[in-house]
Amino acid sequence: MQTTSIFTNFNQKLKTPLTKKKITVLQINLGKRCNLACTHCHVEASPKRTEELSPEICTQLIELIHKFPEIEIVDLTGGAPEMNYGFKPLVEAARATNKQVIVRSNLTIYFVEGFGDLPEYFAQNQIRVVASLPCYLADNVDKMRGAGVFDDSIKALQWLNRVGYGHEPNLILDLVYNPQLPRGEKFALAPEQNMLEQDYKKFLKDNFDIQFNNLFTITNLPVGRTKLYLERKKLYLPYLQFLESHFNASTVEHLMCRNEISIDYLGNVYDCDFNQMMNLPAKNAHGENLTVTQLLAASNLDLISEVQTAAYCYGCTAGSGSSCGGALVEN
Ligand code: SF4
Ligand code: SF4
Repeated sequence: MQTTSIFTNFNQKLKTPLTKKKITVLQINLGKRCNLACTHCHVEASPKRTEELSPEICTQLIELIHKFPEIEIVDLTGGAPEMNYGFKPLVEAARATNKQVIVRSNLTIYFVEGFGDLPEYFAQNQIRVVASLPCYLADNVDKMRGAGVFDDSIKALQWLNRVGYGHEPNLILDLVYNPQLPRGEKFALAPEQNMLEQDYKKFLKDNFDIQFNNLFTITNLPVGRTKLYLERKKLYLPYLQFLESHFNASTVEHLMCRNEISIDYLGNVYDCDFNQMMNLPAKNAHGENLTVTQLLAASNLDLISEVQTAAYCYGCTAGSGSSCGGALVEN
């Protein structure tokens, strides 16, 4: 493919294969249905998408949650994971087995008919809420996510604060910052996470009386809608080269794919959500794709020896690094 001669293959850059550690995080992508259709969405989610978790796979995932005490965190994502019927059963299985539950919430879903109970439900189940707010300025958010999304996000954050999020110790509210998509070849990584967190905290407190716990800065990986956008603007290869030029070897130890598995709505296993979106499945030692059925049958979560990688992995290793939990190292 055209890209190989322009930058170093990611695995060659690492010099050694990217090995898997013990699995402690189960990330489940409940499907591509979402009430929004953001420009940067790596899932290409929207209200029109219909692919979502089936009852059969949901039952298997509940079994998986019960069967493996080494799973410490169940991380629910989508689309808008709350829109899938399996959301609450998965939460309840994880909480019954003392696991931390993370929901990756777009905030605006609480204003869609049928989902108005979510903030209270999250609090009752002590779910950690990780919410997208790609900027604290209304115009930027509305450009990326749709008209009115900023105002709804603010109302939702105030609602979460009212039920205890951001100030009670077991009700953690984290925000996610994504940089704007580049308009030309002047690329930039996310600002330093701790400093941006202080700016967000001050702005949201002063203007909207909102409190939250942590800000996660996440690099736009050239995957999904971001990749399509970059290709349209003829920026895909230059952006990959930019990411490679900021490769930081100290991030590799902390990459999220090292200790997580990511499951799609069909029960297929991946090393991370980006690989899931790019249809790059996790493989066992024989080079075979894995499914939840196989993990259950083997009574073993640790069937993957090596992480599958691709050029977009440079997004996770650039600068301070990037993961679903934000920066990986201090730069
Ligand atoms: S980025 Fe999140 S909120 Fe936006 S369309 Fe994708 S899944 Fe939905
Ligand atoms: S995209 Fe990031 S998390 Fe996924 S396999 Fe590559 S380096 Fe790991």
